[in-house]
Amino acid sequence: MGQSVTEESNEGVDGTVHKASDMQEFIFEVPLYQKTTLKNPQDFSRTLRNEANPFDAFCPHCNNESIFERSGPHYGGTHGNGRYDLNYKCRRNSDHSVLAFVLKSNDTFTKIGQFPSLADIAQKDAAPLVKQLSKTDRHEFSKAIGLAAHGVGIGSFVYLRRVFERLLDRRFELHKDQVDAEQYRRSKVVDKIDMLQDYLPKFLVEHKTIYGILSVGVHELSEEACRSAFPLMKESIEIILEEDLRLRKEEERRKALSTAINKLNADISASRTRK
Ligand SMILES: [Zn+2]
Repeated sequence: MGQSVTEESNEGVDGTVHKASDMQEFIFEVPLYQKTTLKNPQDFSRTLRNEANPFDAFCPHCNNESIFERSGPHYGGTHGNGRYDLNYKCRRNSDHSVLAFVLKSNDTFTKIGQFPSLADIAQKDAAPLVKQLSKTDRHEFSKAIGLAAHGVGIGSFVYLRRVFERLLDRRFELHKDQVDAEQYRRSKVVDKIDMLQDYLPKFLVEHKTIYGILSVGVHELSEEACRSAFPLMKESIEIILEEDLRLRKEEERRKALSTAINKLNADISASRTRK
Protein backbone atom coordinates (compact mmCIF):
# COMPACT_ATOMS: atom_id res chain seq x y z
CA MET A 1 0.00 0.00 0.00
CA GLY A 2 1.03 3.57 -0.51
CA GLN A 3 3.26 2.43 -3.35
CA SER A 4 4.24 5.20 -5.70
CA VAL A 5 3.36 4.88 -9.35
CA THR A 6 6.55 3.70 -10.97
CA GLU A 7 7.31 2.59 -14.51
CA GLU A 8 7.41 -0.96 -13.20
CA SER A 9 4.01 -0.98 -11.53
CA ASN A 10 2.59 0.56 -14.69
CA GLU A 11 3.73 -2.29 -16.98
CA GLY A 12 1.26 -3.59 -19.52
CA VAL A 13 -0.01 -7.18 -19.38
CA ASP A 14 2.98 -8.43 -21.37
CA GLY A 15 5.33 -5.47 -20.91
CA THR A 16 4.39 -3.86 -24.23
CA VAL A 17 3.17 -0.31 -24.68
CA HIS A 18 0.08 0.29 -26.75
CA LYS A 19 -0.34 3.49 -28.76
CA ALA A 20 -3.87 4.90 -28.65
CA SER A 21 -5.00 7.54 -31.14
CA ASP A 22 -7.12 9.48 -28.68
CA MET A 23 -9.19 9.37 -25.49
CA GLN A 24 -12.05 7.65 -27.31
CA GLU A 25 -9.82 4.71 -28.18
CA PHE A 26 -8.19 4.72 -24.74
CA ILE A 27 -11.47 4.68 -22.82
CA PHE A 28 -13.62 2.56 -25.17
CA GLU A 29 -11.18 0.12 -26.77
CA VAL A 30 -7.97 -0.36 -24.78
CA PRO A 31 -8.27 -3.21 -22.25
CA LEU A 32 -7.47 -2.91 -18.54
CA TYR A 33 -3.84 -3.04 -17.39
CA GLN A 34 -2.54 -2.26 -20.88
CA LYS A 35 0.24 0.30 -20.61
CA THR A 36 -0.66 2.93 -23.18
CA THR A 37 0.72 6.09 -24.68
CA LEU A 38 -1.56 8.59 -26.37
CA LYS A 39 -0.55 9.82 -29.82
CA ASN A 40 -1.40 13.26 -28.50
CA PRO A 41 -0.68 13.31 -24.71
CA GLN A 42 -2.32 16.78 -24.59
CA ASP A 43 -5.63 14.92 -24.96
CA PHE A 44 -5.34 13.74 -21.38
CA SER A 45 -4.60 17.21 -20.01
CA ARG A 46 -7.49 18.62 -22.01
CA THR A 47 -9.71 15.93 -20.57
CA LEU A 48 -8.62 16.83 -17.04
CA ARG A 49 -9.14 20.52 -17.70
CA ASN A 50 -12.63 19.55 -18.85
CA GLU A 51 -12.16 21.34 -22.15
CA ALA A 52 -14.74 20.54 -24.78
CA ASN A 53 -13.06 17.45 -26.11
CA PRO A 54 -16.12 15.36 -26.88
CA PHE A 55 -15.97 12.15 -28.93
CA ASP A 56 -18.39 9.68 -30.50
CA ALA A 57 -18.73 6.28 -28.89
CA PHE A 58 -21.30 3.55 -28.36
CA CYS A 59 -23.37 4.19 -25.22
CA PRO A 60 -24.15 0.86 -23.49
CA HIS A 61 -27.11 2.51 -21.71
CA CYS A 62 -28.77 4.05 -24.82
CA ASN A 63 -27.72 1.03 -26.87
CA ASN A 64 -26.78 3.54 -29.53
CA GLU A 65 -23.98 5.76 -30.77
CA SER A 66 -23.72 8.93 -28.74
CA ILE A 67 -21.37 11.77 -27.85
CA PHE A 68 -19.34 11.50 -24.66
CA GLU A 69 -17.50 14.10 -22.66
CA ARG A 70 -15.86 14.01 -19.30
CA SER A 71 -17.93 15.39 -16.49
CA GLY A 72 -17.38 16.54 -12.94
CA PRO A 73 -14.12 16.89 -11.05
CA HIS A 74 -11.48 14.17 -11.24
CA TYR A 75 -10.38 12.64 -7.97
CA GLY A 76 -7.14 11.45 -6.49
CA GLY A 77 -4.64 13.07 -8.82
CA THR A 78 -3.01 16.27 -9.84
CA HIS A 79 -2.01 17.02 -13.40
CA GLY A 80 1.15 15.06 -12.67
CA ASN A 81 1.54 11.35 -12.05
CA GLY A 82 -1.05 9.56 -9.98
CA ARG A 83 -4.47 8.01 -10.09
CA TYR A 84 -7.40 9.65 -11.83
CA ASP A 85 -11.07 8.72 -11.58
CA LEU A 86 -12.80 9.83 -14.76
CA ASN A 87 -16.51 10.01 -15.43
CA TYR A 88 -17.63 10.21 -19.06
CA LYS A 89 -21.21 11.23 -19.60
CA CYS A 90 -23.46 10.55 -22.56
CA ARG A 91 -24.96 13.70 -24.07
CA ARG A 92 -28.29 11.99 -24.72
CA ASN A 93 -28.83 11.37 -21.00
CA SER A 94 -26.68 12.71 -18.17
CA ASP A 95 -27.47 9.62 -16.05
CA HIS A 96 -25.48 7.54 -18.55
CA SER A 97 -21.92 7.26 -17.28
CA VAL A 98 -18.84 5.32 -18.25
CA LEU A 99 -16.31 5.37 -15.41
CA ALA A 100 -12.60 4.81 -15.87
CA PHE A 101 -9.85 4.64 -13.27
CA VAL A 102 -6.49 5.55 -14.70
CA LEU A 103 -2.88 5.49 -13.50
CA LYS A 104 -0.68 8.11 -15.12
CA SER A 105 3.06 7.69 -15.09
CA ASN A 106 4.86 10.34 -17.15
CA ASP A 107 3.69 9.73 -20.71
CA THR A 108 1.99 6.38 -20.13
CA PHE A 109 -1.54 5.67 -19.00
CA THR A 110 -3.00 2.44 -17.63
CA LYS A 111 -6.66 1.80 -16.97
CA ILE A 112 -6.95 -0.11 -13.71
CA GLY A 113 -10.73 -0.22 -13.59
CA GLN A 114 -13.75 0.51 -15.72
CA PHE A 115 -17.53 0.40 -15.45
CA PRO A 116 -19.45 -0.81 -17.39
CA SER A 117 -16.73 -3.24 -18.44
CA LEU A 118 -15.25 -2.99 -21.91
CA ALA A 119 -16.59 -6.50 -22.57
CA ASP A 120 -20.15 -5.39 -21.70
CA ILE A 121 -19.89 -2.30 -23.89
CA ALA A 122 -18.48 -4.26 -26.84
CA GLN A 123 -21.05 -7.08 -26.49
CA LYS A 124 -23.95 -4.61 -26.40
CA ASP A 125 -22.52 -2.76 -29.40
CA ALA A 126 -22.42 -5.99 -31.41
CA ALA A 127 -25.77 -7.32 -30.10
CA PRO A 128 -28.03 -6.37 -33.07
CA LEU A 129 -25.80 -8.37 -35.43
CA VAL A 130 -24.95 -11.17 -33.00
CA LYS A 131 -28.59 -12.10 -32.31
CA GLN A 132 -29.12 -12.80 -36.01
CA LEU A 133 -26.23 -15.29 -36.20
CA SER A 134 -26.35 -19.06 -35.82
CA LYS A 135 -25.80 -20.42 -32.32
CA THR A 136 -22.14 -21.38 -32.94
CA ASP A 137 -21.28 -18.12 -34.70
CA ARG A 138 -23.02 -16.17 -31.96
CA HIS A 139 -21.02 -17.97 -29.30
CA GLU A 140 -17.66 -17.69 -31.05
CA PHE A 141 -18.03 -14.10 -32.30
CA SER A 142 -19.01 -13.01 -28.76
CA LYS A 143 -16.07 -14.99 -27.39
CA ALA A 144 -13.68 -13.10 -29.72
CA ILE A 145 -15.08 -9.77 -28.49
CA GLY A 146 -14.91 -10.82 -24.83
CA LEU A 147 -11.33 -12.09 -25.10
CA ALA A 148 -10.17 -8.90 -26.86
CA ALA A 149 -11.85 -6.78 -24.18
CA HIS A 150 -9.85 -8.70 -21.58
CA GLY A 151 -6.60 -8.10 -23.43
CA VAL A 152 -6.31 -11.54 -25.10
CA GLY A 153 -5.21 -10.78 -28.67
CA ILE A 154 -4.19 -14.09 -30.30
CA GLY A 155 -7.13 -16.01 -28.81
CA SER A 156 -9.58 -13.43 -30.17
CA PHE A 157 -8.09 -13.94 -33.66
CA VAL A 158 -8.64 -17.71 -33.41
CA TYR A 159 -12.38 -17.22 -32.89
CA LEU A 160 -12.73 -14.61 -35.65
CA ARG A 161 -10.96 -16.98 -38.04
CA ARG A 162 -13.33 -19.81 -37.15
CA VAL A 163 -16.35 -17.56 -37.86
CA PHE A 164 -14.77 -16.66 -41.22
CA GLU A 165 -14.11 -20.31 -42.13
CA ARG A 166 -17.65 -21.34 -41.18
CA LEU A 167 -19.14 -18.65 -43.42
CA LEU A 168 -17.08 -19.98 -46.33
CA ASP A 169 -18.19 -23.57 -45.62
CA ARG A 170 -21.84 -22.51 -45.45
CA ARG A 171 -21.59 -20.81 -48.82
CA PHE A 172 -19.88 -23.87 -50.26
CA GLU A 173 -22.64 -26.20 -49.01
CA LEU A 174 -25.26 -23.96 -50.66
CA HIS A 175 -23.43 -23.70 -53.98
CA LYS A 176 -21.41 -26.91 -54.26
CA ASP A 177 -23.20 -27.78 -57.49
CA GLN A 178 -21.86 -24.62 -59.09
CA VAL A 179 -18.18 -25.34 -58.31
CA ASP A 180 -15.83 -28.32 -58.62
CA ALA A 181 -16.44 -29.70 -55.13
CA GLU A 182 -13.43 -32.03 -55.14
CA GLN A 183 -11.07 -29.30 -56.22
CA TYR A 184 -12.64 -26.94 -53.68
CA ARG A 185 -11.94 -29.32 -50.82
CA ARG A 186 -8.29 -29.63 -51.83
CA SER A 187 -7.77 -25.87 -52.29
CA LYS A 188 -6.21 -23.27 -50.01
CA VAL A 189 -8.61 -20.79 -48.44
CA VAL A 190 -7.61 -17.95 -50.76
CA ASP A 191 -8.36 -20.20 -53.80
CA LYS A 192 -11.64 -21.32 -52.20
CA ILE A 193 -12.64 -17.66 -52.05
CA ASP A 194 -11.87 -17.28 -55.77
CA MET A 195 -13.96 -20.35 -56.61
CA LEU A 196 -16.93 -19.12 -54.58
CA GLN A 197 -16.57 -15.45 -55.39
CA ASP A 198 -19.96 -15.11 -57.12
CA TYR A 199 -21.71 -16.33 -53.95
CA LEU A 200 -19.71 -14.55 -51.26
CA PRO A 201 -20.09 -11.12 -49.66
CA LYS A 202 -18.31 -8.58 -51.89
CA PHE A 203 -16.27 -7.16 -49.02
CA LEU A 204 -14.81 -10.59 -48.32
CA VAL A 205 -13.85 -11.15 -51.98
CA GLU A 206 -12.31 -7.68 -52.22
CA HIS A 207 -10.39 -8.22 -48.97
CA LYS A 208 -9.27 -11.85 -49.11
CA THR A 209 -6.23 -10.72 -47.14
CA ILE A 210 -8.37 -10.64 -43.98
CA TYR A 211 -8.08 -14.42 -43.71
CA GLY A 212 -4.31 -14.20 -44.21
CA ILE A 213 -4.00 -11.54 -41.50
CA LEU A 214 -6.06 -13.63 -39.06
CA SER A 215 -3.88 -16.68 -39.79
CA VAL A 216 -0.60 -14.77 -39.42
CA GLY A 217 -2.04 -13.39 -36.17
CA VAL A 218 -2.72 -16.89 -34.84
CA HIS A 219 0.73 -18.24 -35.78
CA GLU A 220 3.21 -15.36 -35.86
CA LEU A 221 2.04 -12.01 -34.48
CA SER A 222 2.55 -10.87 -30.88
CA GLU A 223 -0.30 -10.50 -28.39
CA GLU A 224 0.02 -6.71 -28.70
CA ALA A 225 -0.05 -6.74 -32.51
CA CYS A 226 -3.23 -8.86 -32.44
CA ARG A 227 -4.80 -6.63 -29.79
CA SER A 228 -4.05 -3.50 -31.81
CA ALA A 229 -5.44 -5.04 -34.99
CA PHE A 230 -8.52 -6.53 -33.33
CA PRO A 231 -10.93 -3.57 -33.78
CA LEU A 232 -10.15 -3.46 -37.53
CA MET A 233 -10.51 -7.24 -37.90
CA LYS A 234 -13.73 -7.30 -35.85
CA GLU A 235 -15.31 -4.55 -37.93
CA SER A 236 -14.29 -6.31 -41.15
CA ILE A 237 -15.87 -9.58 -39.99
CA GLU A 238 -18.99 -7.62 -38.95
CA ILE A 239 -19.34 -6.12 -42.43
CA ILE A 240 -18.86 -9.56 -43.98
CA LEU A 241 -21.45 -11.16 -41.66
CA GLU A 242 -23.95 -8.35 -42.29
CA GLU A 243 -23.50 -8.69 -46.03
CA ASP A 244 -23.84 -12.46 -45.74
CA LEU A 245 -27.12 -12.07 -43.82
CA ARG A 246 -28.46 -9.70 -46.50
CA LEU A 247 -27.36 -12.11 -49.21
CA ARG A 248 -29.02 -15.06 -47.49
CA LYS A 249 -32.29 -13.15 -46.99
CA GLU A 250 -32.28 -12.08 -50.63
CA GLU A 251 -31.60 -15.64 -51.83
CA GLU A 252 -34.42 -16.98 -49.65
CA ARG A 253 -36.77 -14.30 -51.00
CA ARG A 254 -35.83 -15.04 -54.62
CA LYS A 255 -36.33 -18.75 -54.02
CA ALA A 256 -39.73 -18.22 -52.39
CA LEU A 257 -40.84 -15.86 -55.19
CA SER A 258 -39.58 -18.20 -57.86
CA THR A 259 -41.54 -21.11 -56.33
CA ALA A 260 -44.67 -18.94 -56.06
CA ILE A 261 -44.42 -17.71 -59.67
CA ASN A 262 -43.95 -21.24 -60.99
CA LYS A 263 -46.95 -22.45 -58.99
CA LEU A 264 -49.11 -19.56 -60.19
CA ASN A 265 -48.05 -20.20 -63.78
CA ALA A 266 -48.86 -23.90 -63.44
CA ASP A 267 -52.28 -23.09 -61.92
CA ILE A 268 -53.07 -20.67 -64.77
CA SER A 269 -51.99 -23.20 -67.41
CA ALA A 270 -54.08 -25.92 -65.76
CA SER A 271 -57.22 -23.73 -65.64
CA ARG A 272 -56.76 -22.71 -69.30
CA THR A 273 -56.44 -26.36 -70.35
CA ARG A 274 -59.65 -27.19 -68.54
CA LYS A 275 -61.58 -24.52 -70.50
ZN1 LIG B 1 -26.55 7.15 -23.39
